[in-house]
Amino acid sequence: MVVTLAKQQYGRPAFARPGGTSDLAPMARIFVTRTPPGTAIATLRAHGHQVSVWPGELPPSREALAAALAEADAALTMVTDRIDEELLAGAPSLRIIANMAVGYDNVDPATAARAGVWLTNTPGVLAETTADMAFALLMAAARNVVASDRDSRAGGWKTWSPTAFLGQDVHGATLGIVGLGEIGQAVALRATGFKMRVVYTGRTRKPDAERVTGAEWLPLDALLRASDFVSVHTPLTPETHHLMDASRFATMKRGAIVINTARGQVVDQDALVAALSSGHLGGAALDVTDPEPLPLTHPLYGFPNVIITPHIASASMATRSKMAEMAAANILAVLASREPPNPVNRPAHSGEGRTIGT
Ligand code: NAP
Repeated sequence: MVVTLAKQQYGRPAFARPGGTSDLAPMARIFVTRTPPGTAIATLRAHGHQVSVWPGELPPSREALAAALAEADAALTMVTDRIDEELLAGAPSLRIIANMAVGYDNVDPATAARAGVWLTNTPGVLAETTADMAFALLMAAARNVVASDRDSRAGGWKTWSPTAFLGQDVHGATLGIVGLGEIGQAVALRATGFKMRVVYTGRTRKPDAERVTGAEWLPLDALLRASDFVSVHTPLTPETHHLMDASRFATMKRGAIVINTARGQVVDQDALVAALSSGHLGGAALDVTDPEPLPLTHPLYGFPNVIITPHIASASMATRSKMAEMAAANILAVLASREPPNPVNRPAHSGEGRTIGT
């Protein structure tokens, strides 16, 4: 395919396809920060775009990201890619950051909008898979699945024991869901199948979700007092940063278990360590930590009743493939000067004639 690139004002390339058809997006340069599973990359290339995929197992460094964004019209990014004002200012051609995640705490939507850049996410498509994992963590923590497996491998299984690895019943227990959004609701539905009482809290009551899931609304502190398991499903925002702090853990029932598949910073980890050390909490199951990865020297690894998984709640082949395809669809829309299907911001100046710092 023959394409001519010419620089315009603000360094944005004008892509002209000699004799090209008007319904096709002209070729653009797309930077993908890690190799996703599935067909997303092939789809982008099939539309004639020039796709550069970061080959490393680790994310690109800030310098490498800056260099790649400086040349890119679109970026398909992961939660590990922090993109701030400085990087955006050095990316004059960039029109869209398509985050392959529902959370987007790695990019400030307003900052991107001021820079004229769309920010999109992948809502919905990962809710069931993430809820599966939240429930797997809940059950594993309740029934000592990980600790007893570790013990068996270490030769600790000498006989059937009437007292070994006594856990907590899941059925009949109360589950407190903090944030009854897409994932919270999918977790609530799983819990009803286990005959749990489900209570929830959030900024607003959700009568439709209450009807579908049977979850009952409670203010946060009442929810913490009532719950045997507390599962966190809010986005990370200034409001939810350290939402689960020392006073919230103290309010929880003695022996209760906290599950976090949201974001690490929603939990005050020092306070969590203290609540586990004192024996007040019965355990924790964390798919997300602060920082990630959690350093091996961190005290949380010292508790047999703590489960730590490496941010894999959406990690099924099918779901990660769909997330990448959704991110690609957002990119293709913006490159074709259409509104993306999953915007989380609205650029001050989007599409043609993008300017920086307005
Ligand atoms: P969602 O549909 O937007 O739901 C988020 C819920 O959080 C909403 O019900 C919202 O309630 C509530 N919320 C927001 N601020 C709150 C606050 N200050 N206090 C209490 N509740 C609050 O999002 P989702 O798809 O369920 O995803 C939730 C989060 O999970 C994502 O943002 C992401 O960070 C995380 N996540 C992690 C993984 C993983 O791999 N571990 C995978 C997927 C998602 P209102 O409507 O009342 O505001």
